[in-house]
Amino acid sequence: MNGLPARRLLLVHAHPDDESINNGVTMAKYAAEGAHVALVTCTLGEEGEVIPPALAHLAPDRDDTLGPYRVGELAAAMKELGVTDHRFLGGPGRFRDSGMMGAEQNHRPGAFWAADVDEAAAHLVEVIRELRPQVLVTYDPDGGYGHPDHIQAHRVATRAVELAAEPSYRRDLGEPHEVRKVYWNRVPRSVVDEGFARLRAAGTAVPFPGVATERDVPGVVPDERITAEIGDEDGRDAFARAKAAAMRAHATQVAVDGPFFALSNDLAQPLFVREYYELVAGEPGAPAGERERDLFAGVSA
Ligand SMILES: [Zn+2]
Repeated sequence: MNGLPARRLLLVHAHPDDESINNGVTMAKYAAEGAHVALVTCTLGEEGEVIPPALAHLAPDRDDTLGPYRVGELAAAMKELGVTDHRFLGGPGRFRDSGMMGAEQNHRPGAFWAADVDEAAAHLVEVIRELRPQVLVTYDPDGGYGHPDHIQAHRVATRAVELAAEPSYRRDLGEPHEVRKVYWNRVPRSVVDEGFARLRAAGTAVPFPGVATERDVPGVVPDERITAEIGDEDGRDAFARAKAAAMRAHATQVAVDGPFFALSNDLAQPLFVREYYELVAGEPGAPAGERERDLFAGVSA
């Protein structure tokens, strides 16, 4: 259809860097396999804190040029993952990064958190009807960890999936399309525990001033809720390396060192080289109790 590859994956994220941290391995894998991998990022991440001192002037309380700068970081990250289709919801700068919950800027005109969900979803419906993905990946209703833009990304993605399939909705945005499977980003509890045990065991070898806690990891759930697991399966770790490189490309936001990384709070976290998902809509492609090793399992083009 439309000359698009047979398998089509759409990821919806709040800020540049979320895609590489959550889905870098998955995106690299499907891009390498020739699937169409598309990323929609809802904001430019204008309100982020800046890690490198030399770039501190980009911050919102100074030059306020972090947004355009992060457009470049995202492009560099996508090059590392081999992903060529990455877009901003409604175009770059249409929705502005909101702050953490309760922040004053969340109520500013243009803030993503203040956006009307249906209006924002219409922009995504247009993308869904154009690309016709079988699989969509986004956050859970809590956004994984309660950030307003992540919660809003969940709401907009969920609404857009409904509206895109609705025959009577906005035919000017394309032919109706039903997304076959919807996944939420997850991390199994046992993987988080193991990662932090590794981090603590490394002690002073950890190259960051402090250590995060399990609570800093978004989307953690009991292992039995995980329905899909994606990673390097051939022992060459090419996708894990691509993920680390993509995270490194977001240098204003992420510092990567070996198997660990830190955000602007300088607290070390384990870098997860396998990625996990919970299927929340559509038919599972693996028997009950087994994890899918392919997000397209059970989906025919
Ligand atoms: Zn984010």
